[in-house]
Amino acid sequence: MGRKFFIKTFGCQMNFNDSERIRGILRTLGYEPARSWEEADLILINTCTIREKPDQKVLSHLGEYRKIKEKNPKALIAVAGCLAQRMGWELVKKAPVIDIMFSSFNMHQLPELINQAQAGYKAIAILEEPPEDEDKVWEFPTERDNPYCAYVTIIKGCDKRCTYCVVPKTRGRERSRSMESILEEVRRLVDEGVREIHLLGQNVTAWGRDLEKPVPFSELLYEISKVDGVERIRFTTGHPKDLTDDIIDAMADIPQVCNALHLPVQSGSDRILSLMDRGYTKEFYLERVEKLKEKVKGIALSTDIIVGFPTETEEDFEETLDVVRKVRYEQIFSFKFSPRPGTPAAEMEGQVPDEVKTERMTRLLELQKGIMSEIAKTYEGTVQEVLVEEARDEGTLVGRTTTNRWVTLEGDRSLLGKIVKVKVKKASPFNLDAELLEVVR
Ligand code: SF4
Repeated sequence: MGRKFFIKTFGCQMNFNDSERIRGILRTLGYEPARSWEEADLILINTCTIREKPDQKVLSHLGEYRKIKEKNPKALIAVAGCLAQRMGWELVKKAPVIDIMFSSFNMHQLPELINQAQAGYKAIAILEEPPEDEDKVWEFPTERDNPYCAYVTIIKGCDKRCTYCVVPKTRGRERSRSMESILEEVRRLVDEGVREIHLLGQNVTAWGRDLEKPVPFSELLYEISKVDGVERIRFTTGHPKDLTDDIIDAMADIPQVCNALHLPVQSGSDRILSLMDRGYTKEFYLERVEKLKEKVKGIALSTDIIVGFPTETEEDFEETLDVVRKVRYEQIFSFKFSPRPGTPAAEMEGQVPDEVKTERMTRLLELQKGIMSEIAKTYEGTVQEVLVEEARDEGTLVGRTTTNRWVTLEGDRSLLGKIVKVKVKKASPFNLDAELLEVVR
């Protein structure tokens, strides 16, 4: 009977794509997925450390998982991801049950680390810098839950220095993956039946700049659109400062590029944006949004907002609300500022009291709730193209519009993986009820 693995993933889409790669690596070693952690021979936690809460969750899960050793002393516990990279041996001291540790720098070393741990060693491989042979990881397959949509990591790390962010420390400097390596994976995925390619990076809009022969990100979009079978292209996360006109033009020009973009603003106050070292102003950001709305038909925008950054005043917060009113986002991911160890913002004077953060967060969510229900209404009666991704129960299908809205429709499983036209009957902020009009392709 094959050995079994169980993976628990925290954090961003990049971490989920890393976990899909780790599943692929374990499959090549003959491991099979366990139904639950209790029956696993290898438990792996892929960690996040973007805020305090994920740190706490990881430690409590490790507390739970150590019970596996009572039942199966040969079981291995592995920790990967950003918390592993940030804490290293400090985390092993806190949780000595850990047998294996690595990060997004060296996932390709997992087979060797498992051998070391099975030989009874503590296989802790946290590296200061990404190793020379880091790109070996792309040789491993990914194993995904969604057969029609796939994440493809195109760049790792970030060269920006936002004062609240740990990512440059935990994921290193920007390293773009070669165009050929990306296209090879896209072709492989299309052969496996994937129709939607979702390009990932902490800052995808920076892709290509650090290549020996620099290539603009927009060119990558064109090259991927030429791969037969690619129906949809999405990319996350763009940085406003790197959202150049050629990228916006490519979004408008390439039919497969979806009219949806996640563009983190973080704050609307120029004073706070400068303390965050975001590198742009409110005016610059709104000009980029105007350009997107002018060029990309029906563009749906989402964003990240930090509430309660050190020294944030009521006036600063009003600037943020003003951006929300002006842009009218389809979705906002909002967070209370959480001081991260080792970041400049954690040491800043003027930390905002938690009750003030909570009160401002409530007002922000209230404003956004109103905007989302108004936008949802605009979908009623419209015709949308939907990629059918899932069959929920007998006769009910689920998919997404190009603007990344979830849609529920009646239909049978033969429509899975198809692009269909639907008419929206009823719309709510998180779901569109629709009826099938026709199968497009
Ligand atoms: S752009 Fe800023 S917030 Fe985003 S990953 Fe880089 S440093 Fe962090």
